[in-house]
Amino acid sequence: MFATSMALVQYVCSTPLARVARPRHRTLASVASSSRNLCAPSSTGDSHVLLGLSEQELQQVAVDLGQQSYRGKQLHHLIYKRKVREIQDFSHLPQTFRNDLHDAGWRVGRSPIYHTITAADGTIKLLLKLEDSRLIETVGIPVEDKKGSVRLTACVSSQVGCPLRCSFCATGKGGFSRNLQRHEIVEQVLAIEEVFKNRVTNVVFMGMGEPMLNLKSVLGAHSCLNKDVQIGQRMITISTVGVPNTIKKLASHKLQSTLAVSLHAPNQKLRETIVPSAKSYPLDALMKDCREYFLETSRRVSFEYALLAGVNDTVEHAVELAELLHEWGRNYHVNLIPFNPIEGSEYQRPYKKSMLAFAAALESRKVTASIRQTRGLDANAACGQLRNNFQKNPLVTDADNLQSESAVEELAVASC
Ligand code: SF4
Repeated sequence: MFATSMALVQYVCSTPLARVARPRHRTLASVASSSRNLCAPSSTGDSHVLLGLSEQELQQVAVDLGQQSYRGKQLHHLIYKRKVREIQDFSHLPQTFRNDLHDAGWRVGRSPIYHTITAADGTIKLLLKLEDSRLIETVGIPVEDKKGSVRLTACVSSQVGCPLRCSFCATGKGGFSRNLQRHEIVEQVLAIEEVFKNRVTNVVFMGMGEPMLNLKSVLGAHSCLNKDVQIGQRMITISTVGVPNTIKKLASHKLQSTLAVSLHAPNQKLRETIVPSAKSYPLDALMKDCREYFLETSRRVSFEYALLAGVNDTVEHAVELAELLHEWGRNYHVNLIPFNPIEGSEYQRPYKKSMLAFAAALESRKVTASIRQTRGLDANAACGQLRNNFQKNPLVTDADNLQSESAVEELAVASC
């Protein structure tokens, strides 16, 4: 498409969206100034959910109910391959076992699809209605390669809303409620497979929420997606806007997955205006952690950079970005994301000429870059945008806010 050597990255769902919503209360960015992590507890803790359990754990469930362990293997097949949503529909299993599961309080843990919206390019955005009636978004993005095979990327959410309030993001504008549990992340991928009637090949944690604020569930979902849904680790990308002390934690797990860091600016001052939580995580500290992530995992870090017209998209910004990246290493890749405009946004989409000049300036300084092809522009594609259309009330009520602030004070010690 573009006459440059850049490869077009074919998926997109990360960035997004809307104008800044001023926090009504103390910002989580200020809370993030704590050296601890920002993770809030789930409000729907439930140990009787089958989805998210490994085959071995499902075998134990079967044995605990007086069955032979092969019944656990059948459960695994029914949940992950057949994608059966209700225990009573486990028709391969004896009725007595189904009744025992039900009587013991077990459930599959799938949420109904509340709404779908399809873009002309085939991107489908789903709203799932969780048990507590919260709505979350997940997006399926199909891409046909030159050989005709289809890659299907699932862009999954990790939180209900997001506390970080990046200035361009509809999710941040909509407020924050709670972290998602492991099964609530996994089910997004299964829902996309159902809707597309095809296997998901790639997963990107770029939907609603900051994955590093819910690291325990994200790691649990990552493991389940890899081992149970059978998506290769290298096909999974975990993104972050940067939360102090979490990149090292992630690196210690030595996953063979890509870390995508949302940078959006080449210097601290500009970054703080776009990503308010950056105040608690100086750029040098973030870049140092990225370098260590590479040294620990041998996996290249990619940097996401939303191009905002007239804000961060000049050649001078590109030169400064190249200098920053060279200062901290060589194994980096930059994904340039043209801002996806929505009504009421204070930001504008950059001109194609600016995008190409920005990318060329990076490449001429030996920084590999891709301009991400925007998908689903006509489908409320920006993260949080569709959810906000259906769940108008801000997610953070006064009560929630008190809860989330005290929870963040504990910074998800439990989950990270
Ligand atoms: S961290 Fe991600 S989801 Fe949260 S406000 Fe920023 S861009 Fe939006």
